[in-house]
Amino acid sequence: MGKQRASLRGFRPSPFDVRLLALNFVDASVTSASRNQMELKVFNTLSRSVEEFTPLDPAGRKVGMYCCGPTVHDYAHIGNFRTFVFTDLVRRYLEYRGYEVTHVMNITDVEDKIIRKVGESGETLKEFTGRYEKAFLEDLDVLACLPSHKRPRATEFIGPIIAMIRKLVAKGVAYQAADGSVYFSIEKYRGCGCCYGQLLKLNFDEMRVGDRVASDEYEKESVADFALWKARVPADGDVFWKSPWGEGRPGWHIECSAMSTQLLGSSFDLHLGGEDLIFPHHEDEIAQSEGALDYGDGERFVKYWLHGSHLLVEGKKMSKSLGNFFTLRDLLEKGFNGREIRYLMLSAHYREQFNFTIDGLHGARAALDRLDECLHKLGELAAGETAEAESELRTRFAAALDDDLNVSAAWGAVFEWVREKNKALAEGSVTPAAAAAAIAAWQRINAVLGIAAKEVSVPAEIQALAEERVAARKAKDFARSDEIRDQLAADGWVIEDTPKGPRVKRA
Ligand code: AMP
Ligand code: ZN
Repeated sequence: MGKQRASLRGFRPSPFDVRLLALNFVDASVTSASRNQMELKVFNTLSRSVEEFTPLDPAGRKVGMYCCGPTVHDYAHIGNFRTFVFTDLVRRYLEYRGYEVTHVMNITDVEDKIIRKVGESGETLKEFTGRYEKAFLEDLDVLACLPSHKRPRATEFIGPIIAMIRKLVAKGVAYQAADGSVYFSIEKYRGCGCCYGQLLKLNFDEMRVGDRVASDEYEKESVADFALWKARVPADGDVFWKSPWGEGRPGWHIECSAMSTQLLGSSFDLHLGGEDLIFPHHEDEIAQSEGALDYGDGERFVKYWLHGSHLLVEGKKMSKSLGNFFTLRDLLEKGFNGREIRYLMLSAHYREQFNFTIDGLHGARAALDRLDECLHKLGELAAGETAEAESELRTRFAAALDDDLNVSAAWGAVFEWVREKNKALAEGSVTPAAAAAAIAAWQRINAVLGIAAKEVSVPAEIQALAEERVAARKAKDFARSDEIRDQLAADGWVIEDTPKGPRVKRA
């Protein structure tokens, strides 16, 4: 495992990707003027239809995006990562189109499951959640998901959470019950003319007024007043905060309402998550935010709700009892790497249920080999030449993603391009300038796809020379150090001195 992880840690952006990051790269060809011709369209769960994406920002540049983050009670599974890779695609594509995105992903570090497990572990809340938060962030990095600009932890937002509950109580849509907990009153909320059931049609005839649900997760059949603040009980151990309603802890749903509106404002553009979050989590987020904050005519909490379909494994819902449950780390131990897993997760449209199989991962490896080989040949031909990116691939790629982020069609365009390039390469009809233009086009679209350059394994004797050079430099034997560098160069290798030490790569 350690060895495997070590090699995956080498899953880095290519030097070109790094340059793009350093330049805070925006595809200049996709300016707001050209956006008018090719509009980005997304499926909005609120309207249950595909809509043109127009940011709330009057200047049309800034986009606020909130994605419900992990509940850090265990290692995240590959279903979770399907959703996070999907949100990474959305963020990268918006940036490619020139939007200035503020991406917020929270860490849910206090909720029912966590409290239960902390009690069993004997650790403090911080020790317990810290371990899984760290693992989650490492996994995201392996999958080349860009870190969110802000990563609020629920436990660091208790003040804003209490303030929001206070507002709901003051407005008469929340109340403290005899058990000491504070609940959101669906009846009172609806009585104010507000709509509960914006994302999902609900049958209120079957609901008994005042029924309450204390747990963070519940089915739509049990729609009932839900907990905002849960009064402290012995099983909570040391996990509690003081509040105007006594000691206790927040409910899961209010955490996201408070964190998202604190960091992105009372109205923001995009809210993302997996389809299981539609009800009750997101429905309750809407009710809490729109119940507590003041919205003008036509204003609302979130403009576009995007939900990713679930990942199945070998056609079945993942479950430990069926033996088809995988964390990312399980797949790494099987010898697959982050780029293969990311590619596979990005091969299907986000609204399609995705059937994950080990065969699929082998297929991903083969597809990436085809792509790598073509890029390698183009790279050899271009040999240091620079050129403007050719436009055709990018046009086809953008047309696919504009169509509700149709990433499978985008890959279709990429592999069609690979076929055409391979044919032209075989015919000898690609000039160095054309090869450079092709590579530049790939690098532009790969700012969205995020497929890292293939790591080339370094032969042992080359590695040994590199290590000898480190020792020579330490001993201030610069003549020997230069001699080794020249010898490596003659063999086609360069040494890059990075903050983490020297890295040997192909010249
Ligand atoms: P959780 O850590 O349980 O709060 O989940 C984190 C994210 O993973 C949420 O957006 C969930 O909707 C999503 N998720 C959970 N299970 C799956 C699955 N099988 N496929 C895709 N996404 C999932
Ligand atoms: Zn959430």
